Amino acid sequence: MFDKTTWIRLPRNVVVGHGVLPQTTEAIAELHLAGDPLVVTSPTAREVAGERVVDDFVANGMEPATVVVEQASFEAVERVIETARAEEAGFLVGVGGGKPIDIAKMASDSLDMGFVSVPTAASHDGIVSGRGSVPEGDSRHSVAAEPPLAVVADTEIIADAPWELTTAGCADIISNYTAVRDWQLAHRLQNVEYSEYAGALSQMTAEMLVDNAGSIKQGLEESAWVVVKALVSSGVAMSIAGSSRPASGAEHLFSHQLDRIAPGTALHGHQVGVGSILTEYLHSGEAGRWTNIRDALAGLGAPTTAAELGINDAAIIEALTSAHEIRDRYTILGNGMNESAAREVATATGVIGRA
Ligand SMILES: [Zn+2]
Repeated sequence: MFDKTTWIRLPRNVVVGHGVLPQTTEAIAELHLAGDPLVVTSPTAREVAGERVVDDFVANGMEPATVVVEQASFEAVERVIETARAEEAGFLVGVGGGKPIDIAKMASDSLDMGFVSVPTAASHDGIVSGRGSVPEGDSRHSVAAEPPLAVVADTEIIADAPWELTTAGCADIISNYTAVRDWQLAHRLQNVEYSEYAGALSQMTAEMLVDNAGSIKQGLEESAWVVVKALVSSGVAMSIAGSSRPASGAEHLFSHQLDRIAPGTALHGHQVGVGSILTEYLHSGEAGRWTNIRDALAGLGAPTTAAELGINDAAIIEALTSAHEIRDRYTILGNGMNESAAREVATATGVIGRA
């Protein structure tokens, strides 16, 4: 008997391009959402985009409220939830780099409200996916919420963001290679459900980014275009899979551990990029595979070593040996690496220096 079912939740409107910020109101009007928006933004993002979005809402007869969040924290999420209730907001609009969007996403999940993503930087795939997390004490609080109802990514604004945010977004995409490898492995060894469509899309997204690396250069607006399109496509792969599997494997577990061990040191994308070098090496020690990942990252100017991340060797080893403990997600790390094996892979790939 055939009894399969699948739910695929996708953003309804995705608007990417030069000067598209004023189209935010139109992209939202088409969603037929009830009520007024609550704009969640950061001090910098407010200046470069948030204020303009608020003005456009007012010009369109809406009564927007604004919350400015300084950092990704549980209190910030709580504050957004309280403001949304007090203002009787109908939906949330996250305007900013990763943080305001993550916070808006998490708040909208607990409020059971729609949210719209207006990224001002292309630093990770969270800008188009339903996944979000904020630090909570020694760990992170994560949600797998619905993806944004709409995404409005103005490449003129994104191209102006600090360059390392763009290289971090690229590295997050490149990490799809190992995420898919881990997913396939989990499918073979643990019968984890695998989607050929989602796996192929995620892998192709990483390949296209690497193939277009030549047009990813500081000061070139086309870089923002290439990276945002890749982040959107990666987000769609996650929507099809109904999980973050296509874009998150052991390299992400490794990065989550670094967030705990060396909080606030390196960017998410840069950490998963280095993680990908390590886990690709574990999948296949042959040069050609892990070296391709390393060379692609280096070509974009993303970190490939602990030193470039600004993280010490001991932290890398600790993250590698403890990453398997984080969540119930089978990866190449299996039941964990011991210290000498971790040291060997990190040395062989040049991530840490020779002791
Ligand atoms: Zn990521």
